[in-house]
Amino acid sequence: MRYLIVADVHANLEAFTAVLDAAKSGGDIAAVWCLGDMVGYGPDPGACLALLRGYANTAVAGNHDLAAINKMDTSEFNEVAAAAVEWTAQKLTPDDRHFLETLPLKALAGDFTLVHGSPRDPAREYIVSVWDAAANLEYFDTRYCLVGHSHVPFLFELRKDTPLLGALPPGLHLGDSRLIINPGGVGQPRDGDPRASFAIFDSNTNTIEHHRVPYDIATTQRKMLRAGLPQSLAIRLSYGK
Ligand code: ZN
Repeated sequence: MRYLIVADVHANLEAFTAVLDAAKSGGDIAAVWCLGDMVGYGPDPGACLALLRGYANTAVAGNHDLAAINKMDTSEFNEVAAAAVEWTAQKLTPDDRHFLETLPLKALAGDFTLVHGSPRDPAREYIVSVWDAAANLEYFDTRYCLVGHSHVPFLFELRKDTPLLGALPPGLHLGDSRLIINPGGVGQPRDGDPRASFAIFDSNTNTIEHHRVPYDIATTQRKMLRAGLPQSLAIRLSYGK
C-alpha cells in the first residue's frame, strides 16, 4: 500500500493537485497523511480541504489551521501571515471550519506518529537542528515520526545512539533506527527549490520516497494577488524561500 505524505499545503491548489497527480501516477494511494497547515497563505483553502477530504486521510492540525478557526492567537504570527489568516477565516465555510475543528494535534498511523511542528509541541515548535530533533525523541512512542512546519525536507536518524540530521534522500529504506522525517512543504517550499515537495511511504517495500514536482506557480500567484493576499507571499513562491 502506498501512502501520500504531505505537509504545509497552505491552500495552494495548483501545488496540491500536481502532488496528487504525481503520486497517483506511481500507483494507487491508500490514504493521504497530512501533517497540518492545509490552509493559510494561499488562495484556495476550501478547494484544498475538499480535495483532501476526497481521500481516506489521517490529518493533524497546524498552527495556521488553528489560527484560521480562532483556536490560536495571531499575535504569534508575523504581519503577512496574520493578514493571510484573517483572509482565510473569512473564506472558510461552516463545513471547512468543522473539518479543521476535528483535527487532532497528534495522530498515529502504523509505525508513524504524525504532528505538525514537533511531538513535544505540535502546534509551535520548529525542528531545525539535530538537537531539536534529538530532544523530541522521548515525546513519541512509535519508531518513526513525521513532521512539517519548517517547509524544509530533512531526515533525522538516531543511529546507534548517534543523532544525525541531513537531507531527505530520494529513496530511504526504513530499518530499526528511530527517525524523524519532514517531507518538505507542498504549497510554500522554503529550501530554495520552488517545486512542491512530498513523500510516499510504501508499506510493501518499507520505503519512503521523496519527490519534487513542478506546478503552475504563476496561476497561484495571480489568484493570490487578485484575492488581495500580501504580495510578498506570492513572490516567495517563485524562489522557494
Ligand atoms: Zn506552514
